[in-house]
Amino acid sequence: MRYISVGSAGQHAVTFTQAVLQGLSKNGNLFVPEHIPKIDAKQFVGGDSLARYADVILSQFIDEGSDAQLPLSQMSARAFNFDTPLKFLNPNTAVLELFHGPTCAFKDMGARFLSELISQMQKIGSAPMPVTVVVATSGDTGGAVAGAFYLKPDIDVVILFPEGKISKRQEQQLTAWGDNIRAYAVQGSFDDCQRMAKDILKDSHLRQRRNFVSANSISLGRLLPQMLYHARAALQYFRERGIPPVMLVPTGNLGNAVAAIWAKQMGFPIAKVGLITNANRTLEEMFLTETYRPFPTVSTLANAMDVGAPSNVDRLLQAFSGFVEINKNVFVCTVTDQQIRETISQGISRWGEVWCPHTATAAFAREQLPFEHCIICATAHPAKFETIVEPLIGQQVPVPESLSWMISRPTYVNRVSADSKKFIERYL
Ligand SMILES: *Cc1c(COP(=O)(O)O)cnc(C)c1O
Repeated sequence: MRYISVGSAGQHAVTFTQAVLQGLSKNGNLFVPEHIPKIDAKQFVGGDSLARYADVILSQFIDEGSDAQLPLSQMSARAFNFDTPLKFLNPNTAVLELFHGPTCAFKDMGARFLSELISQMQKIGSAPMPVTVVVATSGDTGGAVAGAFYLKPDIDVVILFPEGKISKRQEQQLTAWGDNIRAYAVQGSFDDCQRMAKDILKDSHLRQRRNFVSANSISLGRLLPQMLYHARAALQYFRERGIPPVMLVPTGNLGNAVAAIWAKQMGFPIAKVGLITNANRTLEEMFLTETYRPFPTVSTLANAMDVGAPSNVDRLLQAFSGFVEINKNVFVCTVTDQQIRETISQGISRWGEVWCPHTATAAFAREQLPFEHCIICATAHPAKFETIVEPLIGQQVPVPESLSWMISRPTYVNRVSADSKKFIERYL
């Protein structure tokens, strides 16, 4: 499989390794697979592990040139050392729990695979040594990346997060590392952090003396492994209930949702992909007007979805021939903070579940579609957002072990202004 940049069919196709190392194409566009291979779902039996899905699916995407030397099975076995269980809640609803990884959010899946990938690419000589991984985070990405790369030899990590705009426990997960992980609290918004990360990655002087790789959600090293749990959950659901479910995906930068769309296009039984957003209305406006226009980010209770310019939007548009086809496969549902609050408050009585604010958007969307078969993607553990969740449900949320370990660690953080030039001079 080779990768082309959106809007330039056929030209400059690159391997998976090259796409991951480069991040964006020379003309600044996203890479996408040349085609989406069809998979025969009969190859999978019930109870197959994620690592087995990885063997069958990823080997179709990672096979060109030096990519073929990557030990995919070994990488997946190490990366996916936790499960993504599908839990049925009633006859036409299941929840896909994506928060059992070390930092209790679905981003562990992509970040841990990317970490294995870069290490293995270094071992076979297709990635440079040392490498600096750069990531801007609106909440959960940084923690997952930090945890995944912690103490990896020949790799260090620079994390940029907006000071004061993430939950205390999210911040703890970014800053509890030290060693090869450096976290910077930027005095600005997530968009400032993203701009600074871009400035670092495209600074040609800097690149002459240091190797950089992006770990943001544009990275195919994060995006491809996210197909695995969508594929497996859809197949499990279909075998249990005989009907392809709608996949309800709490959405910000569209990384998780594009992975679901690609899994659907491979032939896994997904009826539709629901892009469930918070009050950031960019996607809803795009579906209404059939043109993409970014909006300034607004802060919401579901902060990891506070995105006004979703970075994977071109991959969504490229996956279909136009809006007629998009509307057959994908829909948008926008959820306000008030609706998030109500959904969390009623979560235990209605569903027997404590929702995190992100997952609550999908649970709300589920309640709007009473007759459909749906999978709610639970993207984070509610204990990460206890200051929002606990007052609404009137009880404490038990803290998973990995989170309590992190909460007890000392933190390392630098406060910096949102000035790329100064940042590069001073810290890189
Ligand atoms: C990152 C994140 C999202 C949004 O995922 P995208 O791939 O950016 O669309 C949703 N929920 C949680 C908990 C997240 O961390």
